[in-house]
Amino acid sequence: MFLHNQKMMFTVRVNEPNPQFAKLLLEQFGGPNGELAAALRYFTQGWAESDAKRRDMLLDIATEELSHLEMVGQTIVQLIKGTPGAEVDEVEGGYLGDLLNGKHDKFVELSLNSSQLLLGGPGPRLTDSMGNPFTAAYVDTIGEPTADLRSNIAAEARAKLVYERLIKSSSDSSCRDTLNFLMTREIAHQKMFEAALDAIAHNFPPGRLQGSPEFAHAYFNDSDSGARATDGFELAKSGPWEFKLHEAKEVGTEPPPLKPRPKLASRPSEANKATSGREST
Ligand code: MN
Ligand code: MN
Repeated sequence: MFLHNQKMMFTVRVNEPNPQFAKLLLEQFGGPNGELAAALRYFTQGWAESDAKRRDMLLDIATEELSHLEMVGQTIVQLIKGTPGAEVDEVEGGYLGDLLNGKHDKFVELSLNSSQLLLGGPGPRLTDSMGNPFTAAYVDTIGEPTADLRSNIAAEARAKLVYERLIKSSSDSSCRDTLNFLMTREIAHQKMFEAALDAIAHNFPPGRLQGSPEFAHAYFNDSDSGARATDGFELAKSGPWEFKLHEAKEVGTEPPPLKPRPKLASRPSEANKATSGREST
């Protein structure tokens, strides 16, 4: 059950309108690393989760992501208010047909500079910053906690980085306060998912099948020979996985012998072909 609470999780303000930045911020509204994608990712995982603690965490975070969506959406609206896009909407009383037919010359150019906003009216559209519509393909759940939690950790890391880049490209101190809050919460979510993954005793490899032992610890040196050809192996060896170095040429099998072409006599006769169903087309 959902209840509408009139409070915001964090009060959003902007110092001045900025439709260009509103457009950039759409990335976190309807983009692949955005808040809607995050909320849907954790809701769908949570509903399918049979472990009570993981389910509770997923649904708590999913719900918070909706609060983030609200904050991003309200910030976008504030950034649009008082901008040419909003003025266009006011002149048109919300109906943009005349404008699109070129009847309001002086607004056409202004609105074209923020076509995302023009077509969305005063509200944010569910697109990324380039105008690509939101898609369920952003929800990359595979239905196994040890894989999904890792995916969630990466998703939170990406969301954090997008907020960081947005903060760096904004000169609006109020807007930056909001973005900083949102970025910080994504760091907190990443920690929660890390904790949930650690709490699964056997969390690697994902799934039940262990893989073939002879290949599970093999590091194939697929680099050309040279001074740095085993750098990657040195890196892999520094972990706990006990990798062994193999030259690529140590593996591989001969291709199966080519089968001789069937003799003409053993092929279906032309007469058989004619009755093989093709005649019906
Ligand atoms: Mn979020
Ligand atoms: Mn998050």
